[in-house]
Amino acid sequence: MQFRHSKHDVFIPDNTDPWTALRRVTHLGIVSHQDDLEIAAYHGITECFHDKNKWFGGVVVTDGAGSPRKGAYASYTDEEMQKERLLEQRKAAFVGEYSIQIQLGYPSEEVKRPRHEPCIADLKFILEHAQPEILYLHNPCDRHDTHVATFLRCIEALRDLPKEMRPKKVYGCEVWRKLDWLLANDKVMLSVDKHPHLLRPLLGVFDSQIAGGKRYDLAEEGLRHANATYFDSHTTDGAESLNFAMDMTPLIEDDQLDMEQFATRFVRRLEDDVRERVRRFM
Ligand SMILES: [Zn+2]
Repeated sequence: MQFRHSKHDVFIPDNTDPWTALRRVTHLGIVSHQDDLEIAAYHGITECFHDKNKWFGGVVVTDGAGSPRKGAYASYTDEEMQKERLLEQRKAAFVGEYSIQIQLGYPSEEVKRPRHEPCIADLKFILEHAQPEILYLHNPCDRHDTHVATFLRCIEALRDLPKEMRPKKVYGCEVWRKLDWLLANDKVMLSVDKHPHLLRPLLGVFDSQIAGGKRYDLAEEGLRHANATYFDSHTTDGAESLNFAMDMTPLIEDDQLDMEQFATRFVRRLEDDVRERVRRFM
């Protein structure tokens, strides 16, 4: 299985042949960086873990260049750091028993180019062969440029596919800028109570990112509990931990739907909500 960038990497934890590994995927995550899957698409990973009928597939689009490095990694060259991060992503795929882990190896600058053809062609190839039921992406309100660009390339690839080959559900998930600000009706609640012990090891393998002091493992655990606790002030928690997402499915049901309009509508609804409540009590 070949992809367009020379740095691409395909890893199959149980050594099944790549075509079978790609085709059995039911839940697919496509993100920018190593460790984004374990944050954004964690719901898909835990849904599929040890389930005979479900398989998680992970796609990381960029090469991990320019990552921050501290402690034991401070002296790593950019090339060494890229190798380290690629290996860490493979470790996570092994821990989470993913069906397949694909790393496409593009520099972020390339992913940011509008309609960057090689990247879109790779994504289209993956989507057309995996045909997942559920797809986890970044969301367009994220504050990381590469995340937003990756999201756009994914929608472009999806819109190149015939409608019958597209996923049933597309979620825009939280990484940088969490989604608590969405109005209750706009929030997709993904319960992540299954296999709670998986959370720390899945993020813990990304030692190069955590060693510098950023405890993503603890932050994500706390966030998911906070999401569940603060979701509704009137009821007791139905779920102990939640990830929030935006429903991006309308963007693949209607190819004319403008992505900018669609994304900013969520923000305008928040603005209306704030205005209405303040006015009510003035
Ligand atoms: Zn990222």
